Parts: sequence; structure tokens; C-alpha cells
Amino acid sequence: MSGTRVCGRLAPMTKAELRNALVRGLGSALVELETCQDPHQHHDVVLAACLRSTVFDAQVEGDRGWYLHKAATAVGGGSVEEAVIATLLGPRRVGSADHVQLCAIVHQFAVAGSQGAHAALGQHYQVLLDTMPQDPPPPDVYDDTWDRLSCVCHHLVELGGWDACEQILHEVSTAHSPYVLQRRSWFYDDVVDEFGKDRVEAVVGTTVEASQAPASGPDTPRRPTSPVTLDDLLAGRAERYQAMQFVQSATEQDVNRLLEAAVREPDRRPRSLWGLRKSPYPLDDDLLFALARNDDEYLRDIAFTVMGNHPSPTRRGLALALLDTGEQTINAIDLLARTMVASDEQRLCDAVKSLPVGDEVDGDWHSVCWAANASVERLDDNPTTDLLQYVYRQGYCSVCRSGTVRLMHDTGVLPDTIMNECLRDSYEETRQLARTLAPSAPGLDGSPGS
Ligand SMILES: [Zn+2]
Repeated sequence: MSGTRVCGRLAPMTKAELRNALVRGLGSALVELETCQDPHQHHDVVLAACLRSTVFDAQVEGDRGWYLHKAATAVGGGSVEEAVIATLLGPRRVGSADHVQLCAIVHQFAVAGSQGAHAALGQHYQVLLDTMPQDPPPPDVYDDTWDRLSCVCHHLVELGGWDACEQILHEVSTAHSPYVLQRRSWFYDDVVDEFGKDRVEAVVGTTVEASQAPASGPDTPRRPTSPVTLDDLLAGRAERYQAMQFVQSATEQDVNRLLEAAVREPDRRPRSLWGLRKSPYPLDDDLLFALARNDDEYLRDIAFTVMGNHPSPTRRGLALALLDTGEQTINAIDLLARTMVASDEQRLCDAVKSLPVGDEVDGDWHSVCWAANASVERLDDNPTTDLLQYVYRQGYCSVCRSGTVRLMHDTGVLPDTIMNECLRDSYEETRQLARTLAPSAPGLDGSPGS
């Protein structure tokens, strides 16, 4: 095996291991592709990762264009580029998250000099513009057509600067009214931020004020703003945010009455009970323990959140008891992480390692990674187990992973192997973090900000 392998791991990844790393956006996948003897053997795995987004929360994590383009280039580039473009331009309408990812990868090929990729984005833009419905959908129907158009416009402006922006603004505001462009397209706000309102309005005309808008505009109705009472909450006459506000300023007696109602009449379970999660009071153990065993997941979540926010030895005891019996393991891990004492560290680590690990995006693992981070923040001393290193590899959310990396660094348990992988992570903030923590590490060509 090559002595230049940078990660210190001599055994090459299997296809399944590489796929799992790509699903999570881990830098270990790029390390493997850069250092293995025959990266082309992984062409199928990389292509599959490019065509199907596995981002846990695209709104927070962003796209994986930089990361997947690196992977595609490592396995030969050209044929992956062709397949990605063919999928983007093909007759089948891909899902929203896949569309974001495909555009981002094509963008990276264009940045790397592919005129075909740049032209493909232009072609896709033209098709979207030509087929855009003139009438907006009814307010209760979600339609991502304008998001798709905004996405491809964003990439074209990144590539072509003001000239591209001017042309797009002109074409879109000619095909649709400037009002629709301004109200429906996040691209519009983007370019106003980048180029200035005056320059943009010189192309599309003066921004239409809301009072001049067509009566059938797509604005959403305003939310009620008056404060709610305990009776409103008990009767389910409150939005979640109103319940949150109420609970944060209510008396302990009123919050306990709300909790009692949740326990005694669980079938009513108004959504406004969610506000209990923000309780400034620790609330009653008997009521919370009863709620924690309710059949309804919504109510159980409330109980565990309140208990975790107000740790006590009894609540730690409940977490340990649940782990012993194997009930509600994810909730028990979360509660133990937030109520634990130092001697529980190994117990928590063992519980996390007992969980099944799959290759599909899994929301439970999001809670687990969050809990692992919280457990380290709770303890004064540095970790004595490898819990952080473990969840770093298993989690699906790259934002939580970034937090894990920061904690590993701050507590002195960040191995060089992981530091090196983080320079190649799918999440831009993790790459930036790694460059900050290890400024002497060799940079990667084309990494944003490097
Ligand atoms: Zn997360």
C-alpha cells in the first residue's frame, strides 16, 4: 500500500463504506478517492451519490456541489458530468433537493472550465423560463417552480456576473411581471444584495410597493398578534409561537395546569402544548414521568425536552432505567446526555454504540449526535471515551458534525486523521473550521475560501 496515504488508515474502503461516507458528506470519502490505487473502480458509487441528494437539511447545510464535484473528478469526471447534465435536462422532473444538488455540481464543472456545463445551465434556465406558468398556484399549493428558476439563475450569475444578471432580469421580468419576479423569486433579493437596488431596478423598473400589488398577489395572511390566555391554550386556540410566548412569561401555577391538562386529557393534545418545551420551571416529576410514557410521541417529546432542560438526579435515574430496559432508547440517550454525571460517560457511549447504523438518512441519528455534543458540553473535564469520534462518523447532519469537530478540538481529542478529513468535508463551515484550526495543513485547490 502506498506510503503517501494521508489518513494513516491502510485498509482501503469497501464500496459500501465509501457509499456510507458519501451519504453523510464525510471528508473520508474524498481522502479515499484521492489516495486509493484505482479510484475509477468507485465510479458507480460516486455517480449514484451525485444523482440523489442525501443532505439531511438542505436549507441549513447548503448544497454539496464542491464536494461531489471533487469526488466526480477523482473517478474520471467526464462521464459523471454527462450523466448529471442528462439528468438535469432530461424529461423526468427530479425532486427539489436533487435539483439543487444537480445544479450545484454542474456549476462546479463550469467553474472548472467546462463550457458544456455552463451551456447546460443556460439551457435548463431557458426551459424553466419557457414553461413557467403565468398564474401563481393557489396559496395552499406548494410549488417549487420559482425556487428552481431562482436556483439556476443564481448559478448563472455566479458564473457570468452582472452581464448575466442583467440579461436574466430583463428576460424574466419581460416574461412575467416585475412584481411577480420580486415577490416569488429569492434570486431577486440575492442580486439586490449583491449589485444594489438601484442597479437592479434600472433593469426591471421601480420596486412595486405592497400597497400597489395586484389584489390576487401571493402574499400569505398575517398571523394574529394578540396575546393568548391559558384558556385559549387549553382550548387549542393558539399557534405554537403564541404558546411559546405564553409559557415563557406565565406563572408556575399556570404552566403546571397546562402540563396537568396534557397528562389528564392526552386525547385533546392541542398543538399549543408544544410551548411547554420552553418552560422556565422544572415542573412536576410525577406529571412529566407520566407524560414521558404516553403513547403519543408528540407528548413524550415535550416531557423529555422539559426534563432535559431542567436536569435532576431523579431525571437522570429515569434515563438510566430506560436504557436498562431498552425502552425509548433515543429519548433516554438524550435525557442522560443532559442530566449525566461524569461516571455516566461510558454508559452513554455504550448506549450510542448499541444503536443500529444504516446507510439511509436517519432522523434518530440527528438527535443522537446532538445529544453527544450536549454531553461533552455538560461535563467539566475532557471526554474519556471516543463518543465524539464515533458520532462524527455516524451522523447525517453536517451542521451537528461541525459542532462535534469543534468540541473535539476544544477538548483536545481531535485526531489528525479527522482534521485532515474535515478539509474535505461536504459542509463549507467545517472546511473553514479545519483550515482555521490547522492553518499549516495543505489546502485543496478550488475549496471555497482557501
Ligand atoms: Zn444537525
